[in-house]
Amino acid sequence: MTKYVDIPEINELFYIADLKPDFFKVIKLNEVQVGETLYPIYGLKIGADDPKLPTLGLFGGVHGLERIGSQVIISYLSTLAERLQWDQDLRDEFKTRRIVAIPIVNPWGIKTLSRSNANGVDLMRNAPVEADNATFLVGGHRISNHLPWYRGKSLEVESSTLIDFVKAEMFESKYSLALDFHSGFGVKDQIWYPWAKSTDPFPYMPEFNKLKELFEKTYPYHVYKIEGQSMNYTTHGDLWDYALLEQMKLNNNKTFIPLTLELGSWNWVKKNPIQFFSMFGLFNPIKKHRYSRTMRRHIYLIDFLLKAIAHRDNW
Ligand SMILES: [Zn+2]
Repeated sequence: MTKYVDIPEINELFYIADLKPDFFKVIKLNEVQVGETLYPIYGLKIGADDPKLPTLGLFGGVHGLERIGSQVIISYLSTLAERLQWDQDLRDEFKTRRIVAIPIVNPWGIKTLSRSNANGVDLMRNAPVEADNATFLVGGHRISNHLPWYRGKSLEVESSTLIDFVKAEMFESKYSLALDFHSGFGVKDQIWYPWAKSTDPFPYMPEFNKLKELFEKTYPYHVYKIEGQSMNYTTHGDLWDYALLEQMKLNNNKTFIPLTLELGSWNWVKKNPIQFFSMFGLFNPIKKHRYSRTMRRHIYLIDFLLKAIAHRDNW
């Protein structure tokens, strides 16, 4: 007899959507069965249901161990739902733009505190994309699923669910931007632009540079280090590289910029060295005040990105 897994963050999604059902839609996109347990993958749509409108995509939990990213997204969505109870300006804004989200791409990984999915595949190495000079092992490999960063043999359910959702909900938009939350690299919060596969500039680099300039002028004291993902290391199989390549094939004069937000967890370890002894602690802040700070720290970035794509004609 199969049963659904119990994940508090998933329950929270339903609670949030129930607060404002006329703005939030929760859709079961797929499910992964491991033994007798079903791990559902949920997508959310917020605002006008028109994929042509400017669309911001929020994604988290690709690496299940990096649970904090899912929690930042859910906390943001919760704030949105509460504001939509009373903020008429915000209600009006969502007539002209939308947010789509998969806060927990890899529910088995979230449940078991694993980076990979149940097949031992690192989903961020799983796409059919070959890198120029991928770093040995960490850049993705097909040696064994007992080693981290294993690429798998074909697209896993979680990966194809993410890609299909992005194609359906973002590729028709005249301007879409994805923000995929990760943690566990470096001491600073970093915004990475594509590619992961090569140090060449990605096709929307000029557009990204304008967006970056706008952000830096608007928030000169922002906390982020902004750089190309491949300036850190190149990897095979990045799902966002793959999505970008698929979007380019359409040649439809629309802009799609997938960004990765790497929350700088080494800082949490540095300030609380005991975390070094727990895998969970390496990727997630454990102290309450640090958790609260992480929850509120990225709200203005998400708000900014949504406004920037909605008002592209003004900058
Ligand atoms: Zn990650």
